[in-house]
Amino acid sequence: MVDLGVDVVLLSVGPDLPYLTGYEAMPLERLTMLVVPRDDEATLVVPRLEAPRVIERPDVFALEPWDETDDPVGLVAQLAGRPAVVAIGDRTWARFLVDLTALLPGTTFRKASEVLGPLRAVKDPAEIAALRRAAAAADRVAAQLQAGDIGLVGRTEAEVSADIGRRLRAEGHHRVNFAIVASGPNAASPHHDPGDRVIGAGEVVLCDFGGTMLSGDGVGYCSDITRCVYTGEPPSEFRDLYGVLHAAQAAAVDAATVDTPCEDVDGVARRIITEGGYGAHFIHRTGHGIGIEEHEDPYIVGGNCQPLAPGHAFSVEPGIYLAGRFGARLEDIVVATAAGPEALNTVDHDLVVVDG
Ligand code: ZN
Ligand code: ZN
Ligand code: ZN
Repeated sequence: MVDLGVDVVLLSVGPDLPYLTGYEAMPLERLTMLVVPRDDEATLVVPRLEAPRVIERPDVFALEPWDETDDPVGLVAQLAGRPAVVAIGDRTWARFLVDLTALLPGTTFRKASEVLGPLRAVKDPAEIAALRRAAAAADRVAAQLQAGDIGLVGRTEAEVSADIGRRLRAEGHHRVNFAIVASGPNAASPHHDPGDRVIGAGEVVLCDFGGTMLSGDGVGYCSDITRCVYTGEPPSEFRDLYGVLHAAQAAAVDAATVDTPCEDVDGVARRIITEGGYGAHFIHRTGHGIGIEEHEDPYIVGGNCQPLAPGHAFSVEPGIYLAGRFGARLEDIVVATAAGPEALNTVDHDLVVVDG
């Protein structure tokens, strides 16, 4: 805050509040807001009926419950004092910001991600341990997929998606965030919504899934993995595509060393896919940071010249998509460490043939 000239940080719904306090605001019309003055103690303003859910941490923040007849926005403005610059949580509902701007004329508002983003992007050892546990749980579900334990042929994508979700919970996730199941031509759509299509024999089945696993202090960290299986013997054309993808993903993981600019990691994957003849079919960035959120800083994308630092955690997930035919993606979560890139997902990277 000192470096950025920010006088007060205001945090409501979204991941910044649990990152600092262990408490996640309910997405309600009633305002929850943490007021963090640069030179004073922090105060958590909460609706009185939500206060019993707050685990009090007097060393971190004072608790200020408000009653139904109080004006919580006025209370926040009062606690904020007369700040020149406020950094407000990016996800804060506009209605509260609109009311605050009226109560704080002359205050400049900036995004709290300017303050919190760089802090959240660098994971400490406890956070890396939490990501490792979540990745190991996702790996176990991927191993079940590759072993043929998850029935595919004759089931709809939606059924398989629900099955994967149940398995993520059984392996310790407390919430399923998504379970993409894209079969045959649907695998050419990177964020395909699993539907009524019945999976057949002789098809690719792309599964990209992840959830949130609670860590010791009540904050959840995310998993995110993609593996492809083939229901029968793949045609040589698909084997060729997958070979290029596999080589690109492995090389990009190896390139993710400390001090390497994020865009260079993307460049390594993109060059190999382009040389393999599929450049036009790799239609998204190579990866995204991961932590409390599925997608956060740093982004592994062209134009992001930020160098990787120890503790950066992110996905490496190139994909190749041939519209109307098939597609494939391969994704691991990787942590940049002084000793080199550590891939948290270690389950088989090959194209596994399953009976169905
Ligand atoms: Zn995605
Ligand atoms: Zn994914
Ligand atoms: Zn991802």
